[in-house]
Amino acid sequence: MPLLIDVFPARSDNYGYLVHDVATGRTAAIDAPEAKPIREALGRRGWTLTDILITHHHSDHVEAIPPLKREYGAIVTGPRAEAAKILGLDRLVADGDTIAIGQSEFVVIEAPGHTLGQVVYYDPEGRHLFSADALFSLGVGRMFEGSPKPMWDGLVRLRELPNDTLVYCGHEYAQSNAAFALTVDPNNAALRIRAGEVDRLRAQNLPTVPVSLGLEKAANPFLRADHPTLARAMKLPADADAHVVFAALRRAKDEFKPA
Ligand code: ZN
Ligand code: FE
Repeated sequence: MPLLIDVFPARSDNYGYLVHDVATGRTAAIDAPEAKPIREALGRRGWTLTDILITHHHSDHVEAIPPLKREYGAIVTGPRAEAAKILGLDRLVADGDTIAIGQSEFVVIEAPGHTLGQVVYYDPEGRHLFSADALFSLGVGRMFEGSPKPMWDGLVRLRELPNDTLVYCGHEYAQSNAAFALTVDPNNAALRIRAGEVDRLRAQNLPTVPVSLGLEKAANPFLRADHPTLARAMKLPADADAHVVFAALRRAKDEFKPA
């Protein structure tokens, strides 16, 4: 039975997601950025919230847990490694665990670096990846916690998922990510095509998610840190370790000011 997904904006630039298991009616919010848009999305669809899947402890992903729990009695699942920092978790998960929403199953994958204990949720049957702030379209989250090597290794694991996986990320950052990506990988045809598509979508105020992982593998410079082109762009030797190139890219993005 299929899984239905509702995509909606929340806060200033977050995305909210509802996943609805058609067979059982169970409905999960991916993260809890803001109660009002989640409530409105549920109302539009006629769904009742039963679960919340939390990716990491940042307030723009957890703030609406208490009101949503009060209203719906939803069961809240989140990363064991960040349990002390998140209020209201009922179920703790770690890398390799699976979590069922009705008949739909999500695999938990750890993706450290933006926060140390961040997890993402992958539905292998429908090929949906809720990547939160680990992987954005044409970018990755800021490295607030941890170090480049585990962050890069986590991204390599996400990169190993099938090309036809659809990526649903935590924020709408695609346009600013594209501006940076074009400075480090200007001759990448896939990137240029995606950047044009992002501009067209944003001009109509449409979301740039979901995006195929196959496209991101070709266009996102942070998934291409082991490609000599990116080493060259970072003025590193062609055989530099990928995580060193990745660290240089992340630093360059932090310092990047769009024209
Ligand atoms: Zn975050
Ligand atoms: Fe965030």
